[in-house]
Amino acid sequence: MAFLRQAAARPHHAYLLAGPEGGGKSLAARAFAAALLCDLGGCGECRSCRLALEDKHPNEFVVEPEGRDIHVETVKQEIWHPAYRTAPEPGRKVFVIREADRLNPSAADALLKVLEEPPADAVFLLLSARPHELPETVLSRCHVVTFAPLSEAFVVQTLTAEGAEPERAALAARLSGGNLGRARRLAMDPEGLAFRDVARRALERAAAGPSGALEAAESVLVAAERYRKGLTESLKDELAPFLDERGRPEEAYRGAVRRLEERHKRRVRRAERDYVDWVLLAASSLLRDRVVAAVGGGDGLLMNPDISPPAEPIPATARGLAAIEEARAALAEDLNLNVRLVLEQAFLRLGSA
Ligand SMILES: [Zn+2]
Repeated sequence: MAFLRQAAARPHHAYLLAGPEGGGKSLAARAFAAALLCDLGGCGECRSCRLALEDKHPNEFVVEPEGRDIHVETVKQEIWHPAYRTAPEPGRKVFVIREADRLNPSAADALLKVLEEPPADAVFLLLSARPHELPETVLSRCHVVTFAPLSEAFVVQTLTAEGAEPERAALAARLSGGNLGRARRLAMDPEGLAFRDVARRALERAAAGPSGALEAAESVLVAAERYRKGLTESLKDELAPFLDERGRPEEAYRGAVRRLEERHKRRVRRAERDYVDWVLLAASSLLRDRVVAAVGGGDGLLMNPDISPPAEPIPATARGLAAIEEARAALAEDLNLNVRLVLEQAFLRLGSA
């Protein structure tokens, strides 16, 4: 933080914020962008700060993967062209590239050209949990800021300070593995643990044999669809600050609104898979706890200390765990896979394990 605070006064052209998911990179990028865009260097309260802290400042351009990769067309349209044009509002332009390791080779080349001849009024912030996967040429042009994983104690302390119940905070910290954003959702949102309930019920159903396995897959998909619909609704709130009283984008913000809509659409497209992954991750943690309990591990070692794991034979549980983890890996690797088929297969294997 001290480094970024100093850097905001006389910024270099490009920074790489490197560290695990949920460790504060996005938050730091927003705060840094606010400091770069605010006339007072980041007062935290003016319009520029407020917009930047919500990723909505018209001079802020956010790029993230569409599907697996960040494509060259995206880099050209969202980085290259705006970088060499006048900023929508007076002041600097800030370019945020999330999951920068997903730049495909031609996209990385296009970005490199801009980094080699950076416009004087532009600052580039690359974020990555896998910085070693970035091309050396891009890395060498960035100042690297490293983020360490957050400790469980820090996550618990932060959440309780924000008003979470201590027990819920401890559970959320444990389940999220040091990812504060995720832990916050788990602890604060009344629906935060709903996906774990979905996972529990799916495991129970799958244990009942083949027809139960198919029902389990169906129940996860139904819950994922419900989540996707909720996300679609939330777009309206996000756009509200840029609309006139008739609900149309104000002239100056057409570009910003279009970018927000694009980003939101991507999130909605990803929503089903994100949700399915949370459910599978929860299922995985529940199965893991069965193994821990079976080998005599105490409550302190459980991922879900609030649920006492049923006694199951270790080899069967371990095979179930493998089925779930293979499904997660397959879905992360190949976006064209049919989610239903992958889930059915995983739950069928679980049932017969
Ligand atoms: Zn400000």
